Amino acid sequence: MTETKYIFVTGGVVSSLGKGIISSSIGKLLQARGYNITIQKFDPYINIDPGTLNPYEHGECYVTVDGMETDLDLGHYERFTGIQTTKANSLTTGRIYKAVIDKERRGDYLGKTIQVVPHITNEIKRNIKLLGEKNHYDFVITEIGGTIGDIESAPYLEAIRQMKWELGKNAVCVHLTYVPYLKAAGELKTKPTQHSVKELQSVGIQPDILVLRTEKHLGDGILKKVASFCNVDFDCVVQSEDLPSIYEVPVNMQNQGLDSAILKKMGIEPGETPALGPWKNFLERRQKATEEVHIGLVGKYDLQDAYKSIRESLSQAGTYNDHKTVITFINSEKLTEENVAEKLQGMDGIMICPGFGQRGTEGKIVAAHYTRTHDIPTFGICLGMQMIVVEFARNVLGYEDANSRELDEKTEHNVIDIMEDQKNITDLGGTMRLGAYECVLKQGSRAFEIYKKEHIQERHRHRYEFNNSFEQEYERAGMKCVGRNPESDLVEIVEIPGLKWYIGTQFHPEYSSTVLKPHPLFLDFVKTAIACKKGKK
Ligand code: GLN
Repeated sequence: MTETKYIFVTGGVVSSLGKGIISSSIGKLLQARGYNITIQKFDPYINIDPGTLNPYEHGECYVTVDGMETDLDLGHYERFTGIQTTKANSLTTGRIYKAVIDKERRGDYLGKTIQVVPHITNEIKRNIKLLGEKNHYDFVITEIGGTIGDIESAPYLEAIRQMKWELGKNAVCVHLTYVPYLKAAGELKTKPTQHSVKELQSVGIQPDILVLRTEKHLGDGILKKVASFCNVDFDCVVQSEDLPSIYEVPVNMQNQGLDSAILKKMGIEPGETPALGPWKNFLERRQKATEEVHIGLVGKYDLQDAYKSIRESLSQAGTYNDHKTVITFINSEKLTEENVAEKLQGMDGIMICPGFGQRGTEGKIVAAHYTRTHDIPTFGICLGMQMIVVEFARNVLGYEDANSRELDEKTEHNVIDIMEDQKNITDLGGTMRLGAYECVLKQGSRAFEIYKKEHIQERHRHRYEFNNSFEQEYERAGMKCVGRNPESDLVEIVEIPGLKWYIGTQFHPEYSSTVLKPHPLFLDFVKTAIACKKGKK
């Protein structure tokens, strides 16, 4: 295609409707038709990025290969489409304002008063168009965070209105709303949808496509009613019913013709519907996989979204091992030597989660001790890996006071230390070691056997690292450093070869596990957990 086309995804009525999943599904379906696509998210909050946000506020912080800390929806985009996102795919109001204010200080607008319209809206438009033009994408899908009617979203809606006006057929708006079912009345209600479309229309945007989220199937009568009340063609109203898995959404959307409706709106003849073969094979395998494998997530955030990518990676790995992964959250703040056996009972594998700060770390150490001494498959990621290392120092090397410098400023046995180039950093936003770095694996190690190659690239988000001055002691006592960054010599992977599966990674493999390309570490971890469960290992 010669010109890039723009698809805007907005949401109304309530939040948490799954705009990220719908955006990802649209991306997936267009990609299956051979188009080159990307998906971008705008978050209307003032933070520059979600890097310093508490997961209770915003769920997991996802990290792109080029080191941007982003919204977790970017994880969905990558898992669904297999594309790699970058800084340009994630913007916030904070970043938009900062760019405009920096320009103002430079004197770029000399003589002018800086205003939301046109300066902020132009900066929003510039960021949308730049992504498309620079990379020659056929489609840029732009998801606007928040809900229509929020004060914060106003500049984004104005930018969309202008782009739709300027680009004509080359820009469409897909609006996601909610159709509640009132049990007492026994009725599905379309009024909230009508109001939310009116709200969009009041700022000059006529949605082209409506996706109605619903817990109950909507008959044609309701779809027709919504179409006629909202000025939207009947074949442009689709429903998104609750499904057993988010991965079923693209197929459901394709069955209702969402992608072909979008294409027709843009004046493109849809042609044949793609078969989605590999995707459907994955779903079929997933449906058949009923036997369970139980994985315990040891972490401090009792919130589904806090460890989103880890959960999805474990779940994908379950499917590829023909099992259903059942994940149990185990609160590390409540784990003690006394109750660990009971809390970890029935788990075929234990994941020790990433994190920051003191809270819950002693429980992670207790879990690592228990699983190491009981030979239960264990996977530690980032802070999880660091706690595996601390546990080993305390209980095998005999350093009772061993700890990470992050958690104990004075200990002599700082087996996890602050990275040299982090020592003088005072600003906390966006200053960690972020993004993809190379790692060289030691031949003959378990990690090498799993990856089947020597050079790998993985994404990071940390300030602390394995303290190399203790390496010899660890090696002698049986914990091996088997992956290193070739430039900084930083330890990226530790493992205990004598155990069934006891591996810690300083990096985050969960950010790069996708539906069609599950991550080898997760695949092997879950495979071993299954084998242990069956007594085959
Ligand atoms: N808090 C640790 C560090 O900064 C681990 C970070 C993480 O788990 N992402 O190194």
